[in-house]
Amino acid sequence: MANFGLQLPTIQNWSCQSCSGCCKQHGIFITPEEKQRIEEQNWTPTDGIPADQPIFVKMGGGLRKTWWRLAHQPDGACVFLDEQGLCRIHGKFGEPAKPLACRIYPYAFHPAGKKVTVSLRFSCPTVVANGGRSMLEQSKELRSIARQVVPDNVTQATPPDITPGQRLDWKDFHRFIDALDETFDQDDMSFLSRLLHAGMWMGVVEQSKFDRVLGDRLKEFLDIIVEASEAELPDDLQEIPAPSRVGRMQFRLLAGQYARKDTYASADGTLRGRLRLLKTAMNLTRGQGNLPPIQDCFREVPFETLEQPFGVPKEADEIFTRYFRVKIQGLAFCGRAFYRVPLVEGFYSLMLVYPAVLWIARWLAASDDRGTLTVDDVAHAMTIADHHHGYSPAFGTWGFRRRVRTLAQMGDIARLAAWYSR
Ligand code: SF4
Repeated sequence: MANFGLQLPTIQNWSCQSCSGCCKQHGIFITPEEKQRIEEQNWTPTDGIPADQPIFVKMGGGLRKTWWRLAHQPDGACVFLDEQGLCRIHGKFGEPAKPLACRIYPYAFHPAGKKVTVSLRFSCPTVVANGGRSMLEQSKELRSIARQVVPDNVTQATPPDITPGQRLDWKDFHRFIDALDETFDQDDMSFLSRLLHAGMWMGVVEQSKFDRVLGDRLKEFLDIIVEASEAELPDDLQEIPAPSRVGRMQFRLLAGQYARKDTYASADGTLRGRLRLLKTAMNLTRGQGNLPPIQDCFREVPFETLEQPFGVPKEADEIFTRYFRVKIQGLAFCGRAFYRVPLVEGFYSLMLVYPAVLWIARWLAASDDRGTLTVDDVAHAMTIADHHHGYSPAFGTWGFRRRVRTLAQMGDIARLAAWYSR
């Protein structure tokens, strides 16, 4: 068994509040052993599962292995979710009898050298609300879950590249992570200032070569660029220019992907479904007329409405800061955790979550005929956006990654962040 320490996101709390949201949102993949165990549980209509309701859906596989997931009920909920929003497997056989994927959520474990980092998925509303017990109090349970999911060779994993082809050792890689985390841990600055500050010095990292800047020299280098970038921040962030026309178009396509409901139950693979997707993409490209309501929580509103100033509630700063620090400390934005992209590119993707969440929050507010944001809009928008971040295959495609790189090269990421903060 692998011998590793766990690095916990100590700023985060979480305990399951049994809201059952995850049982309605996610496809639950199961191993052949889990499938067999569930078959042996012998589910019948007397347990509340109709005879004509399939329990498993075959997802494909090769000669040696076939993959399955749990089926969904017609309303999109997991086949085992009952009318009270409780898990039938849990109720009848106890928590350990559930598939591992259900027991892990909302945690994610990523290699970090001699340690394994723990991150959390903000698609869970309780994670966003920081509700429940602290991670430190749960270290024993977390260790037990980690032992079941982390592969034995986890400490052999190589660190993510810093930029394409530039790989340092874990010790030096962590220097970048520490510097990023410290940038976001500055209570005397607004969240937007911290984000822009981090984006500026990551831009310098992107242009730098590290073959001779290692160890203490790397630490010194990072200290210098972090300090110099802070001095470069404009005094008045309102002076930051509006995003370019191309930048806005690229961003609408990206934000539209974050706003989608993309579960296996909702996926419509028919010709009509594919045509609807194409029409949505064309609408988002043009940005004229009305936004198509791609989830039940959205109403059709004019694109232009979302470009008006909505303000950002002050309490949202705490949510965004915690989100960024949990993703950064947990290494959940680059490398194996994030489509194997290098650190700098992964950070640019993470930066874009901020304007994407605010864009979605504006749409939620506008759907409710409001012209200002509440902290609930921001929290709800974050659960929608983080459902995809690092998990939807579309986000790891060449086209999506090129969009992120184009926005970074044109200098539009900082502009978008400032634009949607108004
Ligand atoms: S098996 Fe139980 S916990 Fe897992 S998704 Fe289904 S209802 Fe939820």
